[in-house]
Amino acid sequence: MASGRVRVRFAPSPTGYFHVGGARSALFNWLVAKQAGGDFVLRIEDTDAARNRQEWTDGIISALDWIGIIPGEYEGPIMQSSRADRHAAAAAELFAAGRAYYCDCTREDIVGRAGSEQAAARGYDGYCRDRGLTAGPGRALRFRTPDEGTTTVVDVIRGKPEFQNSTIEDFVIARGDGSAVFLLANVVDDLDQGITHVIRGEEHLPNTPKQQMLWEALGAPEPPVWAHVPVLVNEKRQKLSKRRDKVALESYREEGYLADAMKNYLMLLGWAPPGGEEIVPWSTIEETFRLEDVKPSPAFFDETKLRAFNGEYIRKLSPDEFVAACQPWLTGPTASPPWPPQRYDPAAFDRLARQADAQSRVFVLGEIVEMVDFLFLEEPVRDEAAWAKAMGKGPAAEVLADAIREFATVEWTAQALKATLTAIGERHGQKLGKAQAPVRVAVTGRTVGLPLFESLEVLGREETIRRLRAAADRLPVTT
Ligand code: GLU
Repeated sequence: MASGRVRVRFAPSPTGYFHVGGARSALFNWLVAKQAGGDFVLRIEDTDAARNRQEWTDGIISALDWIGIIPGEYEGPIMQSSRADRHAAAAAELFAAGRAYYCDCTREDIVGRAGSEQAAARGYDGYCRDRGLTAGPGRALRFRTPDEGTTTVVDVIRGKPEFQNSTIEDFVIARGDGSAVFLLANVVDDLDQGITHVIRGEEHLPNTPKQQMLWEALGAPEPPVWAHVPVLVNEKRQKLSKRRDKVALESYREEGYLADAMKNYLMLLGWAPPGGEEIVPWSTIEETFRLEDVKPSPAFFDETKLRAFNGEYIRKLSPDEFVAACQPWLTGPTASPPWPPQRYDPAAFDRLARQADAQSRVFVLGEIVEMVDFLFLEEPVRDEAAWAKAMGKGPAAEVLADAIREFATVEWTAQALKATLTAIGERHGQKLGKAQAPVRVAVTGRTVGLPLFESLEVLGREETIRRLRAAADRLPVTT
């Protein structure tokens, strides 16, 4: 490009939740701009008025912010819809130069001439090419593609795919109402915005020869650097789909994935840091990422691996950071915890999280809620299956009765509580693991959770005994 300055763009269409694949493309673009000391432009391609919603645009901006693409550090957002006049002018220019022609064929006309839908799908037959139609209502504008030769796309990731021009139909660039279609609007904006590198999803590769023809026809001395990043697939090797797979970046954020873990994981979708380590600081990624090293083959979006990654990132937090990171799930307003807000006690949470080492047990921050809800709910959750499992067999009633009695006077520390329950278990022929079950279910409502004795210590003597009594009252009296 003339100035030599690298300018990339991320150009999402605001028609739904922000897709993890979009986030990955955005990060690749961001890094290329950053490494080159160039510019990143956010362009919202909002020309599909029927499907666009302001909230999707807001969602994109906020999701980008979450992964470190921060408003104020990039150009835009530029709304594509604000440039409709410019798109129309480009269409008129192509018509005036003889590079495009008007066409009044209906779909039925085209199918009729081709003989079948299937045959028509092979492309427009050029019927209106030389009819000399001028602009008019219902007349689409088609780009006149060459009949011979090839178009070579030079792609950093894919090499030099070649397209036979004879297979590229005279494609529509403006609709019957005069509005430009994606193919044209996208190129006009890239040209006007001085974009040097187009880094985007593989699904756009078939559009690229057409767009490259438009670049040339609109007077660009050379096409941009193209890079088509690999499609994301699920464990069945199917392309990730909104209906089948969890693809919204927002849902990962809400569940309690850390932005740093997410960013690191997204970068591995098609690329890997040199040296074999996958979990690396962002600064290493910033130094070592190379678009040339991105692999063209489909990238597996592995939720299980992402979860494990997130767990590792959570372990790396300091205890203070961990406690702070949990707060949105404990106090709202983003999440809505199951306890009344006034019952939440930050000091108790802090103590429990540290003493019971919650940080080593959580993979996704939202999981913390179930681990600590017993502390803030008036009554523990009622889970009949857990109840049946812990209370239905063995000497549950005897264990509870002994615990009620002995917990009344024991020193209230995890260690002493453990020793007491161990002795109670032995008395009734049970190992500690078994003897814990009725106590855990009585106090927390669940069969699994944070270490029990630390949990009791934080809950306190009075409330623990009250819950043990309530559970004992529910059990049939044994003789
Ligand atoms: N709006 C297009 C999309 O979201 C942009 C394609 C491109 O980056 O050129 O797929």
